[in-house]
Amino acid sequence: MIYDLVRYQLVDENASSMKRENVLLVSLGCSWGKCTFCDYQDDKSSSVLACDTVNNKVLSQVKGTEVGSSVLEVTCSASYTELPFTTLNYIRETCREKGIKTVILEGHYIYRNANHFFTEFFGQYDIDTIFRCGVETFDEHIREEILHKGLPGATPKQIAEYFDWINIMFGMEGQTIEQLRKDIAIGLEFFDRVNLSIYTTVKNGPERDVKAIEEFYSSAFYQELKTNPAIDIYDEWDEGNKHKVGHDK
Ligand code: SF4
Repeated sequence: MIYDLVRYQLVDENASSMKRENVLLVSLGCSWGKCTFCDYQDDKSSSVLACDTVNNKVLSQVKGTEVGSSVLEVTCSASYTELPFTTLNYIRETCREKGIKTVILEGHYIYRNANHFFTEFFGQYDIDTIFRCGVETFDEHIREEILHKGLPGATPKQIAEYFDWINIMFGMEGQTIEQLRKDIAIGLEFFDRVNLSIYTTVKNGPERDVKAIEEFYSSAFYQELKTNPAIDIYDEWDEGNKHKVGHDK
């Protein structure tokens, strides 16, 4: 079903953050669908028309050069490969109309071999493509045995051959700040940018480790990450919305 969500955001809170507009679009559904921490994959429709109707409405909010942004980040309830082709065309048209020069596409590692099609597709309009991959952690045991992320054995170097940015997640039961430090260090070594999401409990998923999250927020490490221009921190439970995540409506 298609949820009632905040689907447009201008990411421009601080000088260190890369100014960009973010749209959360509706996909045809995630083919992988096994990640234990994920409930957003339910925000989908098998109807191209239904997807396009919502997606066009969301894309109509993109302002581009009007707000001094030339970057559009496209997220959805699956991977960029699972957006209707019509929606992809609407994204490209929106970029052209609004002076967007770079589009960021988020998706699963299993689709890596399709990336060049997207580079060519947007490249036809001189729009650069940045690919962002959900890795969550480089702790292979947690990632594959607990999170069922679905990239077994993939090394940071292999992932970086196809993806420019990565998503890291912290705050699940069993995760440690030490591992987070390692994940961030690897992320910054191999990728241009790290998106750190603080975990929100989902039904039948791992528990949110409130104590570990509090410890993280009160650490010097957090202060260090907050001012690092290559890192964005997202926390859906952050009532003040200091961490750029829109609350569900
Ligand atoms: S690949 Fe992404 S959308 Fe699909 S289940 Fe995993 S986290 Fe959710």
